[in-house]
Amino acid sequence: ARATARTDSFDGLRLENVTKSFGSFTAVDDLDLDVPRGSFFALLGPSGCGKTTTLRMVAGLETPTSGGITLAGNDITYAKPYKRPVNTVFQSYALFPHLDIHENVAFGLKRRKVGNVDAQVTEMLELVELESQARKKPAQLSGGQQQRVALARALINKPEVLLLDEPLGALDLKLRRNMQLELKRIQTEVGLTFIHVTHDQEEAMTMADTVAVMNAGVIEQMGAPQELYENPRTTFVANFLGQSNLIGGTIKSRAADVVTVDMHGVDVSIPAARCHADGDEGWIGIRPEKVLIGDPGEQLDAPGNSIPGGVVTDVSFVGVSTQYQVRMPWGQEIQVFAQNTGHRRIYRPGESVELSWRPDYAFLLDASQDAKAG
Ligand code: ATP
Repeated sequence: ARATARTDSFDGLRLENVTKSFGSFTAVDDLDLDVPRGSFFALLGPSGCGKTTTLRMVAGLETPTSGGITLAGNDITYAKPYKRPVNTVFQSYALFPHLDIHENVAFGLKRRKVGNVDAQVTEMLELVELESQARKKPAQLSGGQQQRVALARALINKPEVLLLDEPLGALDLKLRRNMQLELKRIQTEVGLTFIHVTHDQEEAMTMADTVAVMNAGVIEQMGAPQELYENPRTTFVANFLGQSNLIGGTIKSRAADVVTVDMHGVDVSIPAARCHADGDEGWIGIRPEKVLIGDPGEQLDAPGNSIPGGVVTDVSFVGVSTQYQVRMPWGQEIQVFAQNTGHRRIYRPGESVELSWRPDYAFLLDASQDAKAG
């Protein structure tokens, strides 16, 4: 009854208080999740965080220990896998080796004795751009092409929700990048709900409208990729989505729109919307590419907004950017990724520098969290 209580108007996929335990181990812990219809949704997290278990409960391959799952208001918590309008594409494509591509895609429809199979198969093969390969056997195709066949085979069943479990994991990096864009194009074209499970943050951010970051059975944060990257609420999310410098600070004052933090003797302002610390102590977070590096006293940004006393300890030139490690007076090494625009010189180890950043690029996290988490 609980699972259907709030579902009247929501036409997407909803998980309510979903818990899955294996013996005494809780793999998914009281998960609440709304996936809007027609969205490209990514479940992102490290190995073992519970994302595959979550996907398997949506597919009907696992039963929740407690909680409910609804799709467009219908309770599917205990529905048989083949009774729900959900299909899964796995990393191992599981194509039939003795059937050609056309037959592989047609297989599900033939079994269900649907009419007009050939036309539907042709339409699907056009969608994944494999019309010309229809009479080949799977072994004659590349990994990326086989993956597209698996996708066509799932889509031809016209599921409401397509689950993708690390579908690109077996592909090399370049093919992976191509397939990411390809998958995104196909999802936009068919307008179905895609739920994509991955541990690759770049992949999740490239493809998904909404990303849910999972850690140890719970969702730490959910939002648009840019929102998660620029305004993480936990140290885990900050570290999992790229690199961050986390610098300890003491909160001096809180105004409606800005919080002022004493960062080892320098006052730093942080927009209130990016402050996620309740106590007196916090971690000031700043992404390496948002830190500016200049000569001492150069005042790179707003006057008074610079952090003096840095000494370069390490430099790597990586073409488009130069990556620095800068030791600050309090002993911490700060990472700086400086764009090589041509008008700035490259500093050498041992040189004194001044760091700076625009106040609205920083965020503040609760100091009770481990800065190294993630
Ligand atoms: P990966 O990316 O490595 O697949 P994941 O985030 O998908 O990781 P899950 O496969 O959901 O993680 O597993 C979550 C936890 O639940 C793991 O610690 C795993 O060992 C445990 N687990 C999963 N299935 C079972 C099972 N059938 N029996 C016991 N423990 C399980």
